Amino acid sequence: MTSKKRKGDFMEDRLYYQDPYLQEFSTSLIEAKPWGKNCFALKLKETAFYPTSGGQPHDKGYIGDLEVLDVFEEGDDIWHLTRAVPTEAELNCKIDWPRRFDFMQQHAGQHLLSEAFWTFCQATTIGFHLTEDNLTIDLDMESIDNETIVKVEDTVNQIIWDNRPIIKHWVAPEDLEKMPLRKQPQVDKNIRIVEMKDYDWVPCGGTHPNFTGEIGMVKIRRWERSKGVTRVEFFCGQRALQDYRWKNEMVLDLANDFSVKDKELADSVQRLQEKLKETERRFVESDSRLTEFESEKILKEAEIWNGIKIVKGSFDEKRDLSGLRKLAINLLKTENILVLLVNAETDEKFLFARSADLDLKLNKIYQKFKTELGGKGGGSEVMIQGSLPENIKGQDYIEAFIEAIKNHVDL
Ligand SMILES: [Zn+2]
Repeated sequence: MTSKKRKGDFMEDRLYYQDPYLQEFSTSLIEAKPWGKNCFALKLKETAFYPTSGGQPHDKGYIGDLEVLDVFEEGDDIWHLTRAVPTEAELNCKIDWPRRFDFMQQHAGQHLLSEAFWTFCQATTIGFHLTEDNLTIDLDMESIDNETIVKVEDTVNQIIWDNRPIIKHWVAPEDLEKMPLRKQPQVDKNIRIVEMKDYDWVPCGGTHPNFTGEIGMVKIRRWERSKGVTRVEFFCGQRALQDYRWKNEMVLDLANDFSVKDKELADSVQRLQEKLKETERRFVESDSRLTEFESEKILKEAEIWNGIKIVKGSFDEKRDLSGLRKLAINLLKTENILVLLVNAETDEKFLFARSADLDLKLNKIYQKFKTELGGKGGGSEVMIQGSLPENIKGQDYIEAFIEAIKNHVDL
């Protein structure tokens, strides 16, 4: 059934060029071929399904009752990916319209934004990414200031509110020089120029609404320098609304938590950050005073063995390993000291350490001792740490370790 295309066929079987608003159409199957695992590629007599091209993702929808999973081009042909081959002579097809119209809004908004960056900054758009949840352009410029962003947004949105026609011109190569094109076409046949009336002219094969007003609005969300380009994230139309909606909800919720109005929120957050910083500073001070105090207290209770001060601390309040380490470091300022700390009631950790002047190989002793009493851990000959075995009291673990040391003094 495949025949060589005549001039003009390209337009005729691509219904989205005749009417980008066409959501339902009837046609027939021209060809079907197996595709990948459990799929078929269908060629239709004509189609309103847009294939992935020019940065715009493919349409979805139904051919009869078969879901359209992908739409792609091969040469001049458009193929529709489905799970089966339809048997009906006449196929009723339906485009997933919310998806398509979303792409039309985002895509047409991109035309305006790229022109505005060209006008204000002489920045060329060298990349365009449109997916279901992301929309960016890459610009060949070093940086953008906030003032330019505002100017670009205002200009683009004014053109949207002007509700200018979006005109699609099919042109011959020799007619191109009559148009102030933002970029040159990459094809030499079927050249289609999309004009945002009196503002932007660019070659494009995508789908666009008929008037700029349908773009709704364009909002730049953020921008960053990345891999040698400036990447601008933005949303148009319903995406801009969705984005505004969740952000507005979040701002109102937070403002409510702070008992302030939305515009006062930034000040409230800043005050809270300052307060937090001050609280942290005070906490660190109090904590180190407490560590000093604790160190003095348990140092007084130290046992002396072989001239070594053995300090034992078994804590049952909430204290993590870093808390034990802080206390140990403070105690190790004393010479000739062995520090044995556990927090048996919370996460059951131990930390054993000695002053640098002692000749005890803690890790070596521990590795022997471990097989007798269990537990997991290790470290250096100066400091070891780890988890206690189950069903042992912290104090008993310390005593067992002291026994191990006494039995291995020859180490
Ligand atoms: Zn376009």
